[in-house]
Amino acid sequence: MQAQEIGHEQVLRSALEASGQRFTEQRAAVYRYLSSTDVHPTADEVFLTVRTDLPGISLATVYKSLETLVGCGLAVKLTYSDGSARYDGRTDPHHHARCTTCGIVMDIEGGLSPEQVEALRTRADGFRVMGYRLELSGVCAGCAEAA
Ligand code: ZN
Ligand code: MN
Repeated sequence: MQAQEIGHEQVLRSALEASGQRFTEQRAAVYRYLSSTDVHPTADEVFLTVRTDLPGISLATVYKSLETLVGCGLAVKLTYSDGSARYDGRTDPHHHARCTTCGIVMDIEGGLSPEQVEALRTRADGFRVMGYRLELSGVCAGCAEAA
């Protein structure tokens, strides 16, 4: 096992323990994959990848593991108005660009300055801002080329 994987496993163990959840090989495999990719996979995509490591794992277990990771703060669930969802193993502040043709989601570094957030907040009178989500929607380079 590589040093990075051992680090991941410790992070997972303590986060699960802190929310009263058990460490399982299934949860570990799902977490390993999510932290190793920036493709923001759907649950189906996580299932297809993880079952090459753990052939016995079911789609239902993958779903439950993903929700457990989200509950522990180790992953973020990105939900969309068409009812689809993608999962992000990156939990530090960042933003996304989403292709409305193929659904691919890419990370965008940086964000709004505190001054820009404050300027928006003052337009929502009396609103207390706890966070924000910025998503660019459009067409990815691959889809633009194919069109
Ligand atoms: Zn696309
Ligand atoms: Mn992301």
